[in-house]
Amino acid sequence: MTDLPVASPWFRVTPIDGTITRIEEPCADPWVSANSWHVRGSEFDVVFDTGLGVQSLRDELVSRFGREPVAILSHAHLDHMGSAHEFAECWAHEREPTEETGRGTLSGSRLLQILGTEAIGEDGPAEVMLTALPHEGYDIDGYELRPVRPTRRLRDGDRIDLGERTLTVLHLPGHTPGSIGLHDEGSRILFTGDVVYEPIEDLLDDLGGSDVGQYRASMRRLAGLDVDIVHPGHGESFSGERLRELVAEYLR
Ligand SMILES: [Zn+2]
Repeated sequence: MTDLPVASPWFRVTPIDGTITRIEEPCADPWVSANSWHVRGSEFDVVFDTGLGVQSLRDELVSRFGREPVAILSHAHLDHMGSAHEFAECWAHEREPTEETGRGTLSGSRLLQILGTEAIGEDGPAEVMLTALPHEGYDIDGYELRPVRPTRRLRDGDRIDLGERTLTVLHLPGHTPGSIGLHDEGSRILFTGDVVYEPIEDLLDDLGGSDVGQYRASMRRLAGLDVDIVHPGHGESFSGERLRELVAEYLR
């Protein structure tokens, strides 16, 4: 049992422009505190990643936007697909292991075991990876990551037409085998999931399922894209120029 306080509201919701909204879980450990990105379309909406799943992201989005979006997963780590099972439509890359079981925990030491990486000294996660509870009586030890069978299996180059906006799927393996980004060529916006975020030292390319060679190829590809704004899976958004700097730094 823990004596953590209850955080209400659980989600921090930040409108970015008229159509893009960032959703965060500020009371999750930095290791598992990811961004979900809601993108409004004239035909339908999407949410790129779905948080930890300790609180219903679907309910939050339906009450805020009046309809359920399609969930699209950047990859199958717990902080990106926790609420995926709540959505009628959930799309993921065909190579990403979203259907594997036993990969969820809110224990820091257990998470490192599951991810297949060593504790990185003081940079590792806290043993209890929440600083508050989503509601009274929430059982941290009972946390499970629900596996999901995607309703659509995405491939590189797939185009997702929301009406006036089209998102192109970029297969960017390296962090995981089926990591993807979404590129809005019309608005020159890129959603990168865990492929690139700041600081570059925090990128994870040594997990079970990671591949440094593929990661480097994915980075080179990103550097060649014509983008003005990058919305990453963790941390703050940055410019296309900063993206190219980060890629160069990684490749060194
Ligand atoms: Zn990840």
